[in-house]
Amino acid sequence: MNMRRKTKHFAEILYTSQAIIRITMSDIRLRFPPSPTGNLHIGTVRTCLYNYLFAKKHGGKIIMRLEDTDKQRSTDEYAENIMSGLKNLGITWDEGPIRQSERTKIYTKYLQELLQSGHAYYCFCTAEDLAKERSEQEAKKLPPRYSGKCRSVTFQEAEKRMADGEKAVIRFRVPEERGDIIFSDLVRGDVQIHTKEIADFVIAKNLTSPLYNFVVVVDDFDMKISHVIRGEDHISNTPKQILIYEAFGWKSPEFAHLPLILNQDKSKLSKRKNKVSVDDYLSDGILPEALINFLALLGWNTSDEQEIFTLKELVKKFSLNRVQKGGAIFDFERLMWMNGVWIREMPLHELKNRVESIISKDVVLSEGRKKYGEEFFTNTLSLIHERLKKLSEAPDLLRFFFIPEKNYSPDPELFPHKKMKVDKETAKRMLQISMQTLEALPEEKWNQSELEITLFHLIKEQDVKNGQILWPIRVALSGEKFSPGTFELLEVFGKKRSLQRIEKSISSL
Ligand code: GLU
Repeated sequence: MNMRRKTKHFAEILYTSQAIIRITMSDIRLRFPPSPTGNLHIGTVRTCLYNYLFAKKHGGKIIMRLEDTDKQRSTDEYAENIMSGLKNLGITWDEGPIRQSERTKIYTKYLQELLQSGHAYYCFCTAEDLAKERSEQEAKKLPPRYSGKCRSVTFQEAEKRMADGEKAVIRFRVPEERGDIIFSDLVRGDVQIHTKEIADFVIAKNLTSPLYNFVVVVDDFDMKISHVIRGEDHISNTPKQILIYEAFGWKSPEFAHLPLILNQDKSKLSKRKNKVSVDDYLSDGILPEALINFLALLGWNTSDEQEIFTLKELVKKFSLNRVQKGGAIFDFERLMWMNGVWIREMPLHELKNRVESIISKDVVLSEGRKKYGEEFFTNTLSLIHERLKKLSEAPDLLRFFFIPEKNYSPDPELFPHKKMKVDKETAKRMLQISMQTLEALPEEKWNQSELEITLFHLIKEQDVKNGQILWPIRVALSGEKFSPGTFELLEVFGKKRSLQRIEKSISSL
């Protein structure tokens, strides 16, 4: 009896706590806020990915918000490239896209509110005024900051001056008496900054052209964003944004600032030193899965040694607690290694689908594929599967298989091999002997194990080193310094083409 009551009690607690979790989960809302001023950048993917992982892990929602207030630099093409690029990588969202450029009225309303309440004011200082102010500060060895010269201009006075044609921007009035702003960053812990260090900053060029720090606060509030996860380059904006939240009397979201992505030399990731466009990586044959895997580990890791993760596994394992504070170095070699692992683990039919578009652009391969058939193509792909580090290497590794024998002429200089004691003459002689033996092997026995038996028998009979026969045959068949092994090549080419290639090689030597 006692026991049963206990169980019921436990079940109730469980039920209640689940209900609480459900309510809290539905309140978790994140945003993808790309500025469509360029094609999808790997830094954007890393930020969106961390937002995605956090949202999925906690059952939250994500809003796609295109931050296109910079009318000159934003284009629909970039927006499309960013959104389709993210989707292709499996990073999806639940609401939007919402375009900031379509929300001007909302921003104007809130700007007016701040102007009227005195939290913002019109500033008439010209560029020259500001430059003069700065050089005076420099002379006094003071840090450059806006002096607050126009703070005393009243709203009415400002309206009159503007009606008379004077130009003004809108500045936020930083309340110096507010003192320390402290926020608890979910990655970096407590971050503290004194309002004295923040000068009155510009929040809009005019009533219809608001700027980043202002629109982002209005939007994050309006869209009920609970967590802002973004790059560390924004950390100095956060106290400014907190002040704007406070001016409106709104609660600010939680903040998490992700470590910067760095070049190998520890400078900030740049186009000059690294490829930064996602399209460039994908067209170079990096798999979306590998890119996601790699970017997830660019600033985050698990407590164990695991390095290969699917997106699903990442969702399960991700936590902001294990995001590092220090910059994350972009290690291209590691990406290549991961890509190789992902390729090797992929079933052959999947690899075939993935290389399709790359192969179809190669004339020799496309023609050869038609001529020698689909089965041959699949067999060749299976031979290079292990060695492939990126999809774009496939054509170079496959091409020799598809050259018709009438155009085939291996370079005679490839045959000599010092260590194996093979010179051109030996190569020629060994190929002639092998040719006779192989000609005698019936078609139905033309498979790797029979070929091995046959050639090893020949090696023994001739009392030569393995390499003295196997090396010339491999070069004769591939015309390449590196290729899959002799027996694999012989089997895949089949008897007729193998003998034709050996014959061609003999006459070239
Ligand atoms: N549009 C901004 C950017 O791309 C968003 C910054 C933020 O997350 O607040 O950097």
